[in-house]
Amino acid sequence: MGFLSILSFAHKLIEERVKPGEPVVDATAGNGVDTVYLARCTGPSGTVYAFDIQAAALERTAARCALEAPGHRVELVHHSHAELAEALPTETHGRVAAVTFNLGYLPGHDHATITTAASTLPALEAAASLLRRGGVITIVLYTGHPGGQEEAEAVEAWAASLPQAQYQVLTYRYLNQRNHPPYCVAIEKR
Ligand code: SAM
Repeated sequence: MGFLSILSFAHKLIEERVKPGEPVVDATAGNGVDTVYLARCTGPSGTVYAFDIQAAALERTAARCALEAPGHRVELVHHSHAELAEALPTETHGRVAAVTFNLGYLPGHDHATITTAASTLPALEAAASLLRRGGVITIVLYTGHPGGQEEAEAVEAWAASLPQAQYQVLTYRYLNQRNHPPYCVAIEKR
């Protein structure tokens, strides 16, 4: 059996924690692959809040959900994930089981629209406070595009500074792959 891919590793961490009916967040909906995954984890009684600043991404996500996760509650939020706390109903605050970030640009679309630390860090800060105990944030990072390395360094510095008594932080990454392989930072609230 081979190692888990970076994305499968993030999915595994989510799947092990999310219980049916819990609120979960896709902070970067894109093509909707993670949104569908989250919808299946929380089931038809749960809600996925899926954020993207690009209308085209939310359209793709809606289409994918209709096909691959019909009957699940997916709230599409056409706002920056920096507005996570304001966009989620107050009753979900402190009860969110998982927040997933898949950073960078939308594959097969406009490569100029990328996530940047200016909004990623406030979004991560909000996500960390919205999580329930035992909830998880997964962040898949890319460093091969302009701006990617700077964002990844800012995310790592932020994650490394989280207090150990309240959060466990780890990375899952290749040590021998060339050409900027993606990697995962995961945060669990204690
Ligand atoms: N998870 C997606 C999937 O399964 O296909 C891929 C996400 S793609 C790598 C990154 C997405 O983040 C893009 O669709 C982009 O529009 C979005 N994005 C960029 N800045 C954002 C922001 N401030 N808030 C929310 N989404 C943002």
